Order: sequence, then structure tokens, then C-alpha cells
Amino acid sequence: MALIVQKYGGTSVGSIDRIRNVANRIKTEREKGNQVIAVISAMGGVTDKLIGMAQELSETPPERELDVLLSSGEQQSIALLAIALNDLEIDAVSVTGRQAGILTSGSHTRGRIEEINPDMINDYLKKDQTVIVAGFQGMTENGLIHTLGRGGSDLSAIAVASAVNADICQILTDVDGVYTADPRVVSKARKLPEISYDELLELASVGTKVMQSRSVEFAKKFGVKFEVRSSLNHNPGTIVTEEHEAMESVVIRGVSIERSQARVTITEIPDTPGMSGKILGALAEAEINIDMIVSNIANDGNARHSFTMHTSDLGRAQAALKPVLAELSPHANIETEAGIAKLSCVGIGMRSHSGVAAKMFESLGKAGINIGMISTSEIKISVTVEENIADEAARIVHTAFGLDQE
Ligand code: ADP
Ligand code: ASP
Ligand code: MG
Repeated sequence: MALIVQKYGGTSVGSIDRIRNVANRIKTEREKGNQVIAVISAMGGVTDKLIGMAQELSETPPERELDVLLSSGEQQSIALLAIALNDLEIDAVSVTGRQAGILTSGSHTRGRIEEINPDMINDYLKKDQTVIVAGFQGMTENGLIHTLGRGGSDLSAIAVASAVNADICQILTDVDGVYTADPRVVSKARKLPEISYDELLELASVGTKVMQSRSVEFAKKFGVKFEVRSSLNHNPGTIVTEEHEAMESVVIRGVSIERSQARVTITEIPDTPGMSGKILGALAEAEINIDMIVSNIANDGNARHSFTMHTSDLGRAQAALKPVLAELSPHANIETEAGIAKLSCVGIGMRSHSGVAAKMFESLGKAGINIGMISTSEIKISVTVEENIADEAARIVHTAFGLDQE
């Protein structure tokens, strides 16, 4: 008998029929003699709909209330699944994040899981019941509801699997596993039999939304091996695990696009110590995540800083920068450009192979695609391209690195 944690995402529970399908899959596991904890997302589209309603009422809905509102999506789906299971004569109970003992810290709408006290889950398991846990939510020590950031049910599942020491953790979704690129964009993308934590973490942090990046970080930290597979068929999925030697022979594991990026360029500011710290400090204080950073000094000795961020942060960034720039120089200038995407190649094989960046840039150059900013890490190369040709750019790079399936 194994203890299995299964996470079902929004599409997988997106309709009454899909919920019934999930109930049948869980029933099959129970009939094999396994115990199941299922971590469930809100039905597909529900979270977006709730956000939309809040935004119709206010441009700046209080984040505390957003957490109360958004967590209700998962509360619906867990109860519906438990109802479906009981109808199939499987003894199942639903639990909210608080009841599952998921303790969070940090800010509203982006809570961090500090600890899980799975007493209630364990009590139900002892009674041989199937436990359905609400994903994406937890509670602070003061009893406030937190959500865990978009895609946060992945994190709930990995953290629960770690807390109960599950034998197997499966992320069941609407694709067969992790592919070399988003199969909706690159039709020749291939399913990967396995991928290392570091590669999936890099891919997730540059726009591959098949797993929330923080969930992969958590899995790596606590050594939770997991599998990404389909909730709609029984094909083998992708195993996510520690890297091993054979993995290094593959130079590029995957290609990813992150859309809706914007560039901010600040010019005409003096090149003095502490200046970058002031600019980035103002953005950090406004809780704006910036990404690629390029700084250089012009011939006249003035500094020039460019960085990218999500387009939705552009307005807040300009507001946060205004007072700082006024203080730095009366001539300081700020330009913004939206409609940018970030295209990235990721692979641990980059550590031992050279010429990877050259190959990427050459393939794009040959296709007449202009590269904006560039950034690299040990296992990743990212460039910015115009958003409207990002899909094409991804397909070109995918082919150039020999990732296309036959
Ligand atoms: P869920 O609702 O199950 O959490 P998501 O929509 O969050 O599912 O993630 C699954 C989606 O991720 C897929 O439908 C697919 O389009 C997208 N995706 C993007 N990049 C990849 C990739 N490299 N491999 C697999 N899926 C990817
Ligand atoms: N329902 C949440 C979202 O849409 C969490 C999740 O699906 O993982 O982001
Ligand atoms: Mg998801």
C-alpha cells in the first residue's frame, strides 16, 4: 500500500464531467489498495473570474479581501470532488488550507508556506478516508487567509507530499508531462522522460507555466521527487528529480517564452556610487520584480540603466521612480517600451558545452529576428524579442538545438 499525493489543476476539474473523471481516477487508486490525498485547484477560469469581479468594483482591491475571495474557488472544487467520490462509494472528506494545517507567512496574495501540521489529514487517513485538500491557500498564525500566488496549488501539493512523507507525488494536468517547449506553441515539442529540479526551476521562472516555480524550489529543497502527467490519459509522464551525470549530455533541455514584458530605460543620470542601489531600492520597496538589467556609461559620463518587468507593473514602476530620479538629476529621463517577450534556453549541459549562446543568436539572426537585451546564468540564456514574433523565435531556436521530434 502506497500513500499517494495527487494534484489536479484547474482544467482537470474544469467541469462536472472532469470532476467525475478525477473521482474515478482516485477510485481506481483506492481499489488498488493505495491511500490518496488529492490537492485540488479551483475549476478552470474561476480564479480569473473572481479577480475580474473584484477589479470591476475597485482598481485597487485590498489584498486581504482578494485572499478571502480567491480562496473560495478551491473551496468549491474540493467539496464537489468529495461529493462525487462519496457518490462512487469512496469515503472522502474535503479540508481547507487551514484545516490541512498549512501555516503561511509573508504578504497577502503571495503567502509562503512556513510549515504544515498534518494532524487532521493523518486522522482521516487513519480512518482510511480519502482526503481532498484545497490548493493555493493557507493561514497565518493570526488566522488570516493567504493565497500562494498564481499556480500555487502546485506548491500546496509538493508541501503536503513532503509533510506526510508520501511515497508518490503526482502533478496531474492537461498535458502529458513537461515538454521541450510549450506544445501549444511549438507543435514539434517532445515530452521529456525526466528533468532535473534546476532545469525545471529555471524554465518555470522564465515563463513555463506547467509548474509554479516556487513549488519546484520547495521540491528541490526538501527532496520531493514528483511526476508531471496527464489527468486525461494514462501515458507515462515526466519525472522531476536530482540531476545525474547522463543528464549533462543534453545541452538544451527546453525553450520558454515569457510574454507581456516591458523595458524601462533611465538615462541622463550621474554615474556615482550608490545610484543603482537607489533606483532598484525604490522598485523593491514598491514590491516590483525586475528581471534583466543592463547598465552602461555613455561618452558624456552619464549612466544608462535598462531593465525589464511585467507590463502590469509599468505604471507603479514609473510612480516609484519619479521622486528618486528627481533627486538624482534634474535632467534624468525615463523611457518605457511594452510589447516585449523574453525567450530563454535552459539546460544543465550548458555548463560543459561552449558556443550555446552563439548558436542561439545566430539562428535568430539568420531568421531576421532582432535581439534586444541578453542575460545569462549558469544554465540559462535569455534574450528579449518583440512579443509578436516570440512564438516564431521559439520554434526557430527549438529547431536549431535539435529538439524537434521526428
Ligand atoms: P494546471 O491547471 O493543471 O495547473 P497549467 O495550465 O498551469 O495546468 O499548466 C499546464 C499548461 O502548461 C499546458 O496546458 C501547457 O500549455 C503549458 N506549458 C507551457 N510550457 C510547457 C512545457 N514546456 N511543457 C508542458 N506544458 C507547458
Ligand atoms: N486557482 C489558482 C490559480 O488559478 C491556483 C492554481 O490553479 O494552482 O492560480
Ligand atoms: Mg498550474
